Amino acid sequence: MGLDTPFQFQCGPERECFNRCCADVAILLSPYDVLRLKKAMRMDSSAFIEKYTLTMRSRDSKLPVVFLRMDEESRKCPFVGESGCTVYRHRPWACRMYPLGMAEPAGQNAPANRFYFLVKESLCQGHQNGSERSVRDWIDNQELEPFDQMQAPFLELMAHPQWQSPEALTQEKLDMYFMSIYDLDRFRRFVFDTRFLEFFDIDESRVQAIAQDDEELLEFAFDWLAFSLFHEKRMKIKKNPPPMPRTVAEAQANSSACG
Ligand code: SF4
Ligand code: SF4
Repeated sequence: MGLDTPFQFQCGPERECFNRCCADVAILLSPYDVLRLKKAMRMDSSAFIEKYTLTMRSRDSKLPVVFLRMDEESRKCPFVGESGCTVYRHRPWACRMYPLGMAEPAGQNAPANRFYFLVKESLCQGHQNGSERSVRDWIDNQELEPFDQMQAPFLELMAHPQWQSPEALTQEKLDMYFMSIYDLDRFRRFVFDTRFLEFFDIDESRVQAIAQDDEELLEFAFDWLAFSLFHEKRMKIKKNPPPMPRTVAEAQANSSACG
């Protein structure tokens, strides 16, 4: 399906299947999904990750991937309530897109190459209902734009050719990757509670923004990882900086040593 392809679908509490799709489902969370959900729950990112997610290593890329953790007994999503999704305004990308899926041909990560497809599951009665709408209308209506905007640098980072080199996948680098984009409150402490800002020339306005705004901090994290993992010139080192810590643990040790 292209952006203008029409399809018929309507969900709602009047359906017999209401909420049944919010159980026993593998929901992959992007860094921006985690940001939105931890905001919805008013939780620190580390506590959110611990309580509501499962982290695994991707079989292909070997990078950590994060899933929403279903309740162990009921297999339900922890956010489903009798009246529907309790985090609706902040629900993840995959929940917004359903029943649509999106894909791009391998190695061609660009919006122009995207195509969409309809997921038809026997439990879902939404396909027999409602008027026709286009894929584009669905994307607008589900407010997917900020998710897609934040997804672009994430896909770029995951597809970086330098991950292929054996030195790229050290535990230290994977820890830095995970902390910087998923565990944002910890990353903020890494930036502000260590000597990080002594090394880099960053506009004061950006420093203020990343101190207060999670979206700005996530964008900054993508720059930081491109710089620290792949030596891209996305950050500027100050003249005569002190020796730079190489790992999260080292930076935190420095910070406590500094009192
Ligand atoms: S199964 Fe389909 S129609 Fe039923 S609640 Fe889920 S999305 Fe809506
Ligand atoms: S986050 Fe909301 S929409 Fe998504 S599975 Fe959970 S309850 Fe359903």
